Amino acid sequence: MPKKFQSPGGMHDVFGREYDYFEKIREVVCRNARIYGFEGIETPIMEDKRVFARTVGEQTDIVEKEMYAFKTKGGDDVALRPEGTAPIMRAYIEHSLYTKPQPVKFFYFKPFFRYERSQAGRYRQFWQFGFEVIGKGGPVVDAQIIKLIHNIFKELGVKNVMVEINNMGDEKCREDFHAALKKYLKKESNLLCADCKRRMKKNPLRALDCKKCVKIKENAPQILDYICKKCKEDFKRTLEFLEEVGVPYDLNPFLIRGLDYYTGTVYEFFASGKEEEDEGAPLALGGGGRYDGLSEVLGDEARPATGAAVGVERTILAMKESGFKMEKERPQVFIAQLGDLAKKKSLTLFEEFKNNNIPVSESFAQDSLKSQMARAGKLGATITIIIGKEEAAEDMVILRDMDSGQQEKVQTSETVKEVKKRLKEKKN
Ligand code: AMP
Repeated sequence: MPKKFQSPGGMHDVFGREYDYFEKIREVVCRNARIYGFEGIETPIMEDKRVFARTVGEQTDIVEKEMYAFKTKGGDDVALRPEGTAPIMRAYIEHSLYTKPQPVKFFYFKPFFRYERSQAGRYRQFWQFGFEVIGKGGPVVDAQIIKLIHNIFKELGVKNVMVEINNMGDEKCREDFHAALKKYLKKESNLLCADCKRRMKKNPLRALDCKKCVKIKENAPQILDYICKKCKEDFKRTLEFLEEVGVPYDLNPFLIRGLDYYTGTVYEFFASGKEEEDEGAPLALGGGGRYDGLSEVLGDEARPATGAAVGVERTILAMKESGFKMEKERPQVFIAQLGDLAKKKSLTLFEEFKNNNIPVSESFAQDSLKSQMARAGKLGATITIIIGKEEAAEDMVILRDMDSGQQEKVQTSETVKEVKKRLKEKKN
């Protein structure tokens, strides 16, 4: 027997109930995004490797260890996208979107790739939805994105969502902080893992983000003591806006996010009560912040920008934890058939129901009437149309009321009209 294959490690198939969750989240995200004035964007699944190396940061885990990077046959260095912000900024610059009315607001819902150790809630291919606002911004935009995501979680039934928030200052105010942090890390280097020791000089911030170096945070300097007046004022206003729209938050002075391009306000969403499998750290649902310097790194001038991304698989976990009940749309009509002529007539009838926007279902591949009726019951159809051999020959159908069990024969040509009438009567 030929070998049976499995999906690649850390990558999973999405179908059945899981697909229903995906569909639900996508629907809620797209609807809310449109209300808040976001347009959809699709970028290629891979980019020039430098789009990520330069922006996410050469010395981040994502770039150092987790990127699916390879050479194409033409010799280009490319990488499967590990995140969505840098490609969108690349597209913004490439298509001169700064010439359009600002800000430009994009949303997305798509898969990403990181070569991580797979475990519950951590995959090598995972999905995120996200929002980016580029070209104009300010504290109110940060607060509105947080509120938008908060609303989405609420609509998806995720309970006890908490926002942890911090301000990382801009490039300038970070200089003093870097110096103080480096000094502290040098003094306490015995508390650092090998990676953080190596990165200490060029990128000391990573130590605050490292899951292995939790102890280092205890007495570390805090960035909020180093940020300039303007960053402090911006941060204060963001918090005031959040209070205004009723989003609860916790200040976390050590929150710095795992990517280098963030400046100013940064935040992460948590559903309280969920822990990561082995590290005991809370499992983040998503996160974001300002990234005013990103466009410069990609060869353009500095542009105000802000955005956030949320993990779809983690949102599903949180929905399940919160006891969210997935309501599947009930077909109002089910068509059951017996014999070849009945099958033909059923196909036409199915199209007629569809054209009249009446939710209809079938199981044409099944020949036994008994199993088709069982399926109609399981799906919760209100009316079942039965076309047996005899009915097909007479050009009639049987309408069965699934609640009362009453049956009646009607002309095939009258079926949709009759069903509409009965559904209306049932509604009233
Ligand atoms: P990040 O871009 O790392 O801030 O990730 C944003 C969100 O995407 C996280 O909070 C998670 O919900 C989700 N996420 C990131 N990496 C993974 C992964 N390997 N597997 C599943 N979800 C992930």
